[in-house]
Amino acid sequence: MIVTRFAPSPNGHLHLGHAYSAIVAHDLAQAGNGRFLLRIEDIDGARSRPELADEFRHDLEWLGLEWDEVPAQSTRLESYEHAAQQLLERGLLYPCVCTRSDIRQAQPASGPEGPIYPGTCKNAVIDKSKPAALRLDLEKAMGQAGEIAWTDELSGAVIVDPRDFGDVVLVRKDEPASYHVAATLDDAIDGVTLVTRGSDLYSASHVHRLLQELLSLPVPHWHHHALLLDSDGKKLAKRRNSPSLSDLRNSSEDGRLLAEQLRLQRLPAGISLESA
Ligand code: GLU
Repeated sequence: MIVTRFAPSPNGHLHLGHAYSAIVAHDLAQAGNGRFLLRIEDIDGARSRPELADEFRHDLEWLGLEWDEVPAQSTRLESYEHAAQQLLERGLLYPCVCTRSDIRQAQPASGPEGPIYPGTCKNAVIDKSKPAALRLDLEKAMGQAGEIAWTDELSGAVIVDPRDFGDVVLVRKDEPASYHVAATLDDAIDGVTLVTRGSDLYSASHVHRLLQELLSLPVPHWHHHALLLDSDGKKLAKRRNSPSLSDLRNSSEDGRLLAEQLRLQRLPAGISLESA
């Protein structure tokens, strides 16, 4: 059975891009007589605003979607810690005490996902009194995993190459896990068979597929859909004045009609769909 999910982070209002993402995931599940899940990704304790989770549920209801909700990330911290512990015991993680400014000063190479960590703490004796994150030793991890691939429904088979992320942080200084560990574990726990999300998270799937291999988790398929862009060609964001779904809902727009228009890609003025 096909199981898809919509996994918003409660750190800002949902906008049309999120609506599109939820509709794609919902409709893919419905077409396969499957399940569409809602998961609140509140792993980032400092930025999460719990009241937004209820707002998200109202937004989805207003769009005419039905879903099953699975537990939020904040209830699953032990699973993430356990997974990180396994990787640590296998020597695949190393502590890193670098601050952002330490990393900037080391003039790291820059990749599409931002600066690539130059490995400063990998072989250094670190100051144990400082708060440490845990980073994945990518070279070692890829060596253990061997050549593996993942399948995107739109772009086909892709060989795993997470080098855009370098030695990515898997356990943050202030949280028991990073997004990558939490989302990968959750998709496995929730039985997700088709990870549906925007193409802005395409590169992250390389990291997630590698983690699945290292942690012997089931391997889903992926569907990275095109993104809604504003008239400047930038992805929609509340901070760039994209209307939030709650604003539209409160201004008595018809949510079901809006959902139909998004399905037919009849987009509001100034918004276009990035061709994948
Ligand atoms: N929580 C992420 C976001 O709101 C989505 C993560 C995912 O779909 O894997 O951007």
